[in-house]
Order: sequence, then structure tokens, then C-alpha cells
Amino acid sequence: MATRSSLRSLPGVDELLRGANDLLARYARPLVTDALRGALDDARQALRTGDGTASDADALLAAAAARLAAVAAPSLRPVVNATGVVLHTNLGRAPLAAAAVEALTAVATQPCALELDLADGGRGERDAHVESHLCALTGAAAALVVNNNAAGVLLALNTLAEGREVVASRGELVEIGGAFRIPDVCAKSLATLREVGTTNRTHPDDYARAIGERTAVLLKVHPSNYRIAGFTAAVELEALVAIGRERGVLVVEDLGSGALVDLTRWGLPAEPIVADRVRRGADLVTFSGDKLLGGPQAGLVVGRADLVARLRRNPLRRALRADKLTLAALEATLRLYRTAPDLAAVLPTLRLLTRSVAELTTLGEAAMTLLARALGPAYALALENAAAAIGSGAQPTETLPSKAIAIAQKIPGGP
Ligand SMILES: *Cc1c(COP(=O)(O)O)cnc(C)c1O
Repeated sequence: MATRSSLRSLPGVDELLRGANDLLARYARPLVTDALRGALDDARQALRTGDGTASDADALLAAAAARLAAVAAPSLRPVVNATGVVLHTNLGRAPLAAAAVEALTAVATQPCALELDLADGGRGERDAHVESHLCALTGAAAALVVNNNAAGVLLALNTLAEGREVVASRGELVEIGGAFRIPDVCAKSLATLREVGTTNRTHPDDYARAIGERTAVLLKVHPSNYRIAGFTAAVELEALVAIGRERGVLVVEDLGSGALVDLTRWGLPAEPIVADRVRRGADLVTFSGDKLLGGPQAGLVVGRADLVARLRRNPLRRALRADKLTLAALEATLRLYRTAPDLAAVLPTLRLLTRSVAELTTLGEAAMTLLARALGPAYALALENAAAAIGSGAQPTETLPSKAIAIAQKIPGGP
């Protein structure tokens, strides 16, 4: 009986709406109505199960406000990357340079000459904004941009090897987090993968013997996130190019991270440099825009002009192309590579990778002060030596000297 009268005493939705002017000023009416209904349902449920007393209008409006705030809160939120992995795929990989953010903001809010040649008023090509920079930085004759490197590999293999064979070493059939697997991408490109060699050893002869009538591409893949150690042999790009030239078969390299500059200049572990791979004769090289390059998510394909032109004509290209925000951010990032007197000062990825242990110590101490305040006296904090990783498949077995904050729960009554 008590429950039934409490239920009856709950205000109705219409009555609540009349007192909800604050909420209606901030949120769309149907959403406010839904939130009020939800709050009322909760109150009824609580009364029926006996874990609540009758709610008045104010309490119901407050409950509705909380529901509305949860809907309006962004889901994709900034976080602190304290993982020790600088380019973390789950945390969004490379942070953009200020110049890149400025460029993408400008084209996001205004019309831009995306596919318009301002010199002659004719139709332009959207990749033209970045192609000359990519060619200058890699020595390639032509370049193309797609949504990510996975798309670059897919487009290259589909264009060059649909219905034909792609030869790749069993030691390089990599899986990247997020289900990018070379055999699967090959299958989706409608090419047949022909595996050669063994897991630990592949020789030039293995490739040479696999080449037949149907062979279109010799594929080399950077073993981004793993290393095979011990009794190993892999075929260097030059040897692969020599075989390809002799037998009239194309050589494509998926470089994964792909550095545009020599990272050892900043004391970092050596990563394959795109220009170097182009110089050694790869017909096409594909790599990511948001790994070591430090730009937006993108897939970059550089190499022979006739092959890039074929990729551009593939109808898949339209489905895989980059948008104007990406192109604006990428162009600005590439401009930094070409023009900045001190790249590490303006490219956040490089800046984060080259911080000294002294700088990380200062940062760690400041973070510890904030953390200690947030965690309270139940936790003991200490700054310890640690090893960080570049991430995104660059040098997985090499580490960078770093610092970590160790958090330990104090034992009650203990020291
Ligand atoms: C990271 C990586 C990819 C996938 O690149 P995305 O830009 O994430 O699509 C493909 N191949 C290799 C070797 C990689 O390291």
C-alpha cells in the first residue's frame, strides 16, 4: 500500500517538463523528455524494490540532468600517455605539430582549393598538395596518399597483382594489431600469395624459383613488431630488386613506420629510411603517416610515376583516398621536414622521442606531486629508472632510457 501511494505521488513527465527550463535551454526537447522518463523509471523501480523513498521533482530533475550530462560528454577524450610507448596505436599514435593543427583547422572551417589548380583554374588533383614534398623528401618520382598504410598495401597489390601472384617470405608475413595481416590483405586485393622460404630463413633462390608466368610482385614487408633472432637469413632489398629486374617482376616494399629522416642523428635507433629504399630500387614503397613520420593517419605510397598513375586510376582509390583535413595536416607536417631548421623542436613525435632523462625526471617529479595529491596518503610513490619504447612497430627490441612512477598501496598499520 505504502509503495502504491508513493508511486502515485511521483510527478508526471509533463509536470517535470514545466519545471525543466534550465535543461531545455541546454538540450534538445526530445532528449530532455527521454531523460525525465528514464529518471522516473529509475525512481519507480527503486520504490518497487524497496531501496528508495519517493523522489520529489527536484531530485528527479537532478537525476535527469546527470543522464543528459552523460550523453553530452565527449567519448573520445584526451588522456595522459604514461604507458612508456611513445607512438601508441590505442592512444592515437603521433600527436600533430602546431602547424599541422593550424592547417587542418583552416581548411575545416573554410572552402579550400582541394581539387582546384589555382594556377590555371582547371581541375586539380588532391594529392598534388603533398606530392612534391613527398617526392623531394624520398627521391621518388611520384606519390599518392590514402587513408592509412593498410589501404596503401591493399591498393598497390590490387592494382599491380589482381588475379596474379605476390611472392613474399614466410619470415615477413606480419600481423599488426587490429587485424592487419599480410596474407589477408593479399587475399582481399584478389592476388594470390605465394609464400617462400621458412620462418627463420629465406634466400634469393627461394624468390627466384617461385617466379612464374603469373608472378606480378615480389613483396618485402618490414617485420615491424617482432624480430626473428638466431639462425636467420632474409633477402635484402637490393637482391630482391636485382631478381625483379632480371625477371621483369615488380618489387613493392611495405615499410610500416618508415622514417623520412635518419633518426640516428638524434641518437635514436636506426629505422629504415624511405629515401634509402627508393634509392635501392623498390618500385613502390608504402608507409604510415602517423607513425614515425609524426603526421596524421594516412598511407603514403611513393615510387615509379607510371605505377603511381596506375594506382590513381584504380576505382578503389576513390574509396581509400584521404580527406582534406588529413591532406592539410600532412602537407604542413611535410613542410616542416623540408623547411624547419630544428625539426625536433617543432615535430612533437621527434621531440617526445628525444627528451633527455633529466627532462623526464623533472616531468616525473611534477607528475608525482599531482598524483600524490589525487591518490591521498594510502599510496607510496617513487620515481624509478625505466625503459620506453618508440612504438608503432619501430625497433620493437630497442628501448629508450626513461623514468616511471611506481605506485604502491601502503599496508594499513605498516610503515
Ligand atoms: C603499421 C603497419 C601497417 C599498417 O599501417 P596503418 O597505417 O596502421 O594502416 C602495415 N604494415 C606494416 C609493416 C606496419 O608496420
